[in-house]
Amino acid sequence: MFVYKTIGGACVKSATPKSQGQGAAPAPAPSLGGAIAIQHPVGLRGRNLMADVTQIQSALARIAPAEGGAGPRFEVDGHCGPKTNNAIQQFQIKHFGWKGADGLVEPGRQTLQKLNALLARTAPASVVAPTTPTNTGSLTQPELRAAIELAQRWILSAQATVLAAVPLLHDTGRVDGLQAFGRDARMRLLNKHFQIDGHGIPTHRVQLILRVFDRMRQVFQRPGGMWGESAFEPDPLHTPGVAAYTWWGGFFLGGQSRKEAGHTIRLDTIYLCPDLKRLSEDIRAFVVVHELAHFVGHPEYIDDHAYNFQGKGAKIQRLTPQLRLLNAESYANFAFESARGGEPPAF
Ligand SMILES: [Zn+2]
Repeated sequence: MFVYKTIGGACVKSATPKSQGQGAAPAPAPSLGGAIAIQHPVGLRGRNLMADVTQIQSALARIAPAEGGAGPRFEVDGHCGPKTNNAIQQFQIKHFGWKGADGLVEPGRQTLQKLNALLARTAPASVVAPTTPTNTGSLTQPELRAAIELAQRWILSAQATVLAAVPLLHDTGRVDGLQAFGRDARMRLLNKHFQIDGHGIPTHRVQLILRVFDRMRQVFQRPGGMWGESAFEPDPLHTPGVAAYTWWGGFFLGGQSRKEAGHTIRLDTIYLCPDLKRLSEDIRAFVVVHELAHFVGHPEYIDDHAYNFQGKGAKIQRLTPQLRLLNAESYANFAFESARGGEPPAF
């Protein structure tokens, strides 16, 4: 069971200890591995539909360079240019040699199958050696990295989900053959979590969502930490019963700090508390995405208007479309469901 409270103007996600005998933290949901499907070939001389390109770029970004992928810094923008063609070829060379490197990913063919095989594995892709080891409360450096990498993959999935809907945003609902790729399917998660349709022109609100997830990705690209760990620090206050906290718009508060209980707390940092240790890896990653939403929201503050723990069909469903856009938990839910295809585990 989780409770939430506010400390010093910071959003704090807070946990009450589980009672003994209630079992460990919920097991991670079975990974769907984020399997991808494309309608038409992507790459050199491919048809390169934006939604297809997005899928392939997202897949390449989620696969580590050591495994032939392009890694999390790879740009997912839905446009197939030299960088994407090159990334496809590098992947093919790695797995099939030069003979198999035609630069084209085709539906049902070996390159797509190999991408899906790699995505299906549950272990986070890890290529870069740890930076300076830090003591994140009682969370070990590998545990911290695993949670952050998982969060990063969910964010990529979220971006892919949004980008796949963008070309059809203004489509009036004409059925165009493949139902799985139709507008309703592509808009499903956007409508479920953000109620995009039926509330005016969708473009601006979808752009905001895209910007939030894009900034989340930028957090991992900040200098000083190969995987962006530099934005994440152990909580120096050792706040009990709390999972993590950060500042609204901290992404834009570089170098600023304040004093809390004799400690210097940076405003451009997400603090991870020792309580994360008892939570499952999925929930740690969920907390990371939730806090990132607060962290990158600017100029509009992304706040806590409703949480999952307040119950299914309860408060979060009653938020207005505008408040959903400004609700941290909505971004975490959207990212989780984009990656896993289901609801996040209760905690
Ligand atoms: Zn929050």
